[in-house]
Amino acid sequence: MKNNFDILIIGGGHAGSEAAWIASQFGLSVALISSPDSQLASAPCNPAIGGVGKGQVVREIDALGGLMGILADRAGIQFRTLNESKGFAVQSTRVQIDKDIYAENAELFLGKLENLTIIRKMVETVDHHKSGFELTTVDNVKYFSKKIIVTTGTFLNGKLHTGEEQNSGGRVGCAKSAGLNSLFREIRTTPNRFKTGTPPRLDKNTINYSVMEPQLSDPLTRNFHSLNTSFDRELIQLPCYLTRTNSDTLSIIRSNKERSPIFNGQIKGVGPRYCPSIEDKAYRYTDKDVHHVFVEPEGLNLDTIYPNGVSTSLPKDVQESFIRTIKGLENAKILIHGYAVEYDVVDTSQLARTMEYVSIPGLYFAGQVCGTSGYEEAAGQGIMAGINASLSFLNRKELILDRNDSYIGVMIEDLVTNKRDEPYRLFTARSENRLYVREDNTISRIRKYRRELALFSKLDLYQENFLEEVELLEKLVESTMIYSNVESKKYFQDNNYGPLDINISFKELLKRPNNSPVDVLERETLRFGISFSSDVIRTVAIAVKYEGYIDRAVIESEKINKLGKKKLNWELLIESKNISFECKLRIKNTKPETFAQLQRIEGIRPATLAYVAGNII
Ligand SMILES: Cc1cc2nc3c(=O)[nH]c(=O)nc-3n(C[C@H](O)[C@H](O)[C@H](O)COP(=O)(O)OP(=O)(O)OC[C@H]3O[C@@H](n4cnc5c(N)ncnc54)[C@H](O)[C@@H]3O)c2cc1C
Repeated sequence: MKNNFDILIIGGGHAGSEAAWIASQFGLSVALISSPDSQLASAPCNPAIGGVGKGQVVREIDALGGLMGILADRAGIQFRTLNESKGFAVQSTRVQIDKDIYAENAELFLGKLENLTIIRKMVETVDHHKSGFELTTVDNVKYFSKKIIVTTGTFLNGKLHTGEEQNSGGRVGCAKSAGLNSLFREIRTTPNRFKTGTPPRLDKNTINYSVMEPQLSDPLTRNFHSLNTSFDRELIQLPCYLTRTNSDTLSIIRSNKERSPIFNGQIKGVGPRYCPSIEDKAYRYTDKDVHHVFVEPEGLNLDTIYPNGVSTSLPKDVQESFIRTIKGLENAKILIHGYAVEYDVVDTSQLARTMEYVSIPGLYFAGQVCGTSGYEEAAGQGIMAGINASLSFLNRKELILDRNDSYIGVMIEDLVTNKRDEPYRLFTARSENRLYVREDNTISRIRKYRRELALFSKLDLYQENFLEEVELLEKLVESTMIYSNVESKKYFQDNNYGPLDINISFKELLKRPNNSPVDVLERETLRFGISFSSDVIRTVAIAVKYEGYIDRAVIESEKINKLGKKKLNWELLIESKNISFECKLRIKNTKPETFAQLQRIEGIRPATLAYVAGNII
């Protein structure tokens, strides 16, 4: 068997699979070495792809030529648009997946690539020499490459906790990774290990769904992969159900505080602030007993149900008791108990924006090993590491996504410019430009980056045609006037478009607050017999709607840059109702005296900066 490759990737989770998929498209010889214990792109936690801020990432990956959107569409058992009532800028797609079908498709798509070799073994050590890297697998076989991408997820020195029980492992049923010791002696890791947790999995035949609120798949939610333009679904669609915790649930959890590994000192690692365990919720918010629990199927033919919202590492007997206090789960049988995993994390301030470890050229990191949490965050880094390792191998110019036009750019800049003290998740408030960085305009934002890859495929043709159509429709919208006459006035009245006392531009009609710009543009193009795809109409209509807000956002961000030297009163800031609790804590700890000092505090959200810039100084 061949042991020399252009690029070697360690770990076939969401980051590694994405890196392998894109690197193979550059025609390089690529190997993906991953543990035989877990499937490629498997979902150890919630069986869903997308969500607020994350749907945007999946579409960005898709527009760059990635795999995640294709897999999610194939495995989707429920499609929903989140934040539908809140305006287009923060709307995101979420797809509940059949986790087995998702991973099977990952194996299928990656397995078909002729220049990709998939090796199912654990890597034990990594050494680096002037000529490149030498990997040794558990059976003592050596592999060589000039570029390696490490995407080992939660496996580095992983330790699992369920109550008092502690086992080594990367996730349930999987051996840990020993830490790739020879390599990691030279790598800086974060001072604290990180931890993440998962809820127990319930037997779907033991749940009383009739007392819960069903949530159905939305037939109008768009598929993730841009070439899947129809609304057809590959699989039959299943409902999820909503239930809630109550005072009995929380009192059981609270009375077992001393047995909680998170709170009794057994777990030292820092958990994700925005994905708290049920223990976190119980002990931190002592006056709140009611928390949502979404009862989500893990697959069409799987017996397991994922109760989203009750991630826990409490002892098994406590899990059994508190689960059965929840409405509809009175007789629920736990098939796999919840647990937490603690693992080592790379200090990402040592990485360049290409995801390369600066002091060891040719070594790239991506995914949860970089301190992020979530499949989409992992895949977003994976595709960028795969692209940049390939471009570097080919002596081509690196590709950096700007934070102003992509969530992946926001995430990577946040990772490499700050010391990480807790797991990082993407959400819309992390972007200064979130009115512009939307799902509907992904191709407009990402096309310039995809072009730089010079990978000519069906996707490129689609994107070029799409943008040509967008431009054409924009010109039409721009140049059309509506004249106030009897006929048009009546038409406006019949369609609830508002008054037409004077001539107005078509753009003004689209911007009217009570009109849905997408519906209006769709109706009007149809009326004039002009045919555009619904995706093109959406992109143009929403862009017109947000035009003014985006101009204002640009001015705001220019203002922020000029404000650095201004003095501020941090004591006033921590009293403000418009600043989040997390930001206030960070401000209190750092006591910034100028706006620039505030800007440099890790974790201060762009929304806070914008608020302070606009209102306080
Ligand atoms: C218990 C648990 C709870 C989680 N909770 C959440 C959550 O609530 N929300 C959320 O969004 N995300 C959650 N996640 C995180 C989510 O699973 C990850 O963010 C995502 O899977 C990370 O992708 P990755 O590619 O970086 O790593 P992983 O998906 O972990 O993949 C790593 C891969 O590397 C392989 N590997 C590791 N070491 C070696 C080695 N030495 N040799 C060969 N192969 C190796 C492993 O077999 C695995 O295939 C949770 C994960 C776990 C385990």
